[in-house]
Amino acid sequence: MEKYVLAIDQGTTSTRAILFDRDQKVVKTAQKEITNFFPHPGWVEQDANEIWLSTLSVISQLFDGGQFKPEQVISIGITNQRETTVIWDRKTGLPVYHAIVWQSRQTSDIVNKLKEDGYEPLIKEKTGLVLDPYFSASKIKWIRDNVAGVKDNPDLLFGTIDCFLLWKFTCGEVHATDVTNASRTLLFNIHTLDWDEELLKLFDIPRSMLPEIKDTSGVFGNIDPRHFFNHTCPISALVGDQQAALFGESCFEKSNVKNTYGTGGFILVNTGDKEVISKYGLLSTVAWKIGEEVKYALEGSIFVSGSLIQWLRDQMQFIPTAADSEELASSVEDSGGVIIVPAFTGLGAPYWNDRCKGSILGITRGTNKAHIARAAIEAMAYQSKDLIMVMEKDINEKIPYIKVDGGASANKLLVQFQSDILEIPVVRPLQPEATALGAARLAGLATGFYKREDFKDDQAESYEPQMDHEEVEKRYAKWQDAVEATLKF
Ligand code: ADP
Repeated sequence: MEKYVLAIDQGTTSTRAILFDRDQKVVKTAQKEITNFFPHPGWVEQDANEIWLSTLSVISQLFDGGQFKPEQVISIGITNQRETTVIWDRKTGLPVYHAIVWQSRQTSDIVNKLKEDGYEPLIKEKTGLVLDPYFSASKIKWIRDNVAGVKDNPDLLFGTIDCFLLWKFTCGEVHATDVTNASRTLLFNIHTLDWDEELLKLFDIPRSMLPEIKDTSGVFGNIDPRHFFNHTCPISALVGDQQAALFGESCFEKSNVKNTYGTGGFILVNTGDKEVISKYGLLSTVAWKIGEEVKYALEGSIFVSGSLIQWLRDQMQFIPTAADSEELASSVEDSGGVIIVPAFTGLGAPYWNDRCKGSILGITRGTNKAHIARAAIEAMAYQSKDLIMVMEKDINEKIPYIKVDGGASANKLLVQFQSDILEIPVVRPLQPEATALGAARLAGLATGFYKREDFKDDQAESYEPQMDHEEVEKRYAKWQDAVEATLKF
């Protein structure tokens, strides 16, 4: 009987379950979109119960039809949208409030107060992160401060999505997370690799709510047979989605870079055994911990990347599906001078401005939907260039090429424009599920299903830069002007 690793990829837009075979090839995928709630401008929430049910649903879809069976699954790896915060009651398993999504800005008052009180340098030194509503700590505090009955309830647990799903899968047996997820909470000390007492006190969060922190790859517990058609197997990896993609894209060496275009955009460079503290607002984060091996990464995050295309689809109704953006944008030569700065929820690295709003500049009487679509795709690439430029300064090296993945990397126009505007090759693996592959690799490694030497660079196609240097400079300067104007708005 063939054996497989099951990767669960719980993303911001959807939950996926993917079976990987011994050759790390995808044999079956199931997917379910999840609902985002926008209760106030800038707030983004999800229903943690819906996330849990979507996970059960995609697993059951995998085994639907009988081609694959639960007993063929040798281990499970979970990768997840990071920072998104759930607080639930250990007695009932019910969340006390919606999950506050990483994109949400509803905790800016908490964060601004800490900034005013001068805590930013201390937090940066300990966590490698910037003081921002993006990370979990202020979201936990917000729920504790704003939801009735929460502060005094000793039975409440906090978890990021990996941890919540693990707790559910094990029917409340295991309350744990891994270093990559912990390193995104703003409560985790990246030097000691543990929760930091001083930060817990600062955010007024009792340690008893927090999960145990474990290696990225290793057995966390066994899935309860009630959730797996009367079978069980180890859950042997939990890993934040961006770190999973880094692993899945085989960025094992120092200075290897990957860029993921999902809902948000995330560029990570492997910085090896050492954490690099950025001078330009990039984040230092744990890339993975496997036994004694700890790797770090420097990360630049873009809040709105593929979700800009979703906005064109849903709010503007320019296109029926995200994939149609490519055809629409390709129907014009260029954006006709239109620039979109998608600061829907402020701007992330390297700007970190949570007050500014998005802009569309350079429109004329001749501007049409296609120009806007093209400008949207270009904005994804310009935002990535902003990050690569500062990343090179932080690591003091020129980045020779990047690897790309994520939903929007299917867009050839985007990948080519990214190469043009960066003036370096952009490599896209033929295997598109880098995030799930990373989780599957880490889960398979822990149970001996995969060996380290199995993890070679996958087959890939390379896009070479084609735009001349002067044109690149001219366009990028316009983008920078547009960002400057947007930051004031
Ligand atoms: P996540 O893991 O964050 O849920 P995905 O990696 O699945 O995200 O990517 C989904 C995002 O990519 C959506 O925001 C969608 O609008 C965008 N997207 C998907 N396909 C395309 C495409 N062909 N061109 C541009 N954007 C796309």
